Amino acid sequence: MNITIPTKCELCPRKCGANRAEGVRGFCGAGASLKLARAALHEWEEPPISARAGSGTVFFSNCPLRCVYCQNIDISQGGFGLEITTERLAEIFLELQAQDAANINLVTATQYLPWVLPALEQAREQGLVLPVVWNTSGYETLETIAALAGFVDIYLTDFKYGKAPEAAAIRYSQAPDYFDVASAALDAMCTQVGSPTFDDDGIMQRGVIVRHLLLPGQLEESKAVMKYLWERLGETVLYSVMNQYTPPQHFTDFPELNEKTTDEDYHALLDYMDALGMDDYFWQEGGAAQESFIPPFDTTGVEKAACT
Ligand code: SF4
Repeated sequence: MNITIPTKCELCPRKCGANRAEGVRGFCGAGASLKLARAALHEWEEPPISARAGSGTVFFSNCPLRCVYCQNIDISQGGFGLEITTERLAEIFLELQAQDAANINLVTATQYLPWVLPALEQAREQGLVLPVVWNTSGYETLETIAALAGFVDIYLTDFKYGKAPEAAAIRYSQAPDYFDVASAALDAMCTQVGSPTFDDDGIMQRGVIVRHLLLPGQLEESKAVMKYLWERLGETVLYSVMNQYTPPQHFTDFPELNEKTTDEDYHALLDYMDALGMDDYFWQEGGAAQESFIPPFDTTGVEKAACT
């Protein structure tokens, strides 16, 4: 598969049209080259994803959604990372497999689709057998989801915001279309990979996990999101509800984001989900809101190790 760097990029729903082939950076910050911030085993995903030695997590630089509260802001908006080739990316996948990773977990890779697909193809030819996880904000086009068919086994997707006109999608992500776009993308993901399956050790092999992060002061919107998801998808996906929000900086324009999510709100959301009939989902113990969930973005695993 050849790499065609977009001359009018429409890889994500922003469809900003950047001429990336000429080095113009798009809304996401990505330009004409592939950039990674970290590639390492990661223990803090959901248990069937982080099983065995951990998830083989590859953090890509830049991000189409650019939420103001992003927990990985240095890479998503700061653009931190190293430029590498497609061949090196394929090697990284195989190195993670050699470290006994449970899967290859591609975090926010949409803007690099033209590099990621050939790298996966090369790695498969060279012995990659692990499931591939597409770890996304949920803000995806149907064309991108269609392009991932046959490459991705598991979608680990956020569903961040509700549909209300005053929804946090506008305030925090400049994405008034988030709900409609993410809804259509999620439907397409479910159709593509089907219901969750696991191997004999309980490691996820295929399916969809939908994540939702409760933000400070957003309890009612979070309830609406979970009600929508449950009524639409029921038990065909796994759910993961998180309370790990940690203020990444001091906000003057969004003072509510200077606080952590309260235990009271989190348990009110879990009680609401129980009342809906959602009795099986991933949730986080108290005290999850720690910076320790955020790995160091120091280009670990990105450069080829020197021979000794
Ligand atoms: S992936 Fe980046 S460059 Fe491409 S349309 Fe989205 S924001 Fe623009």
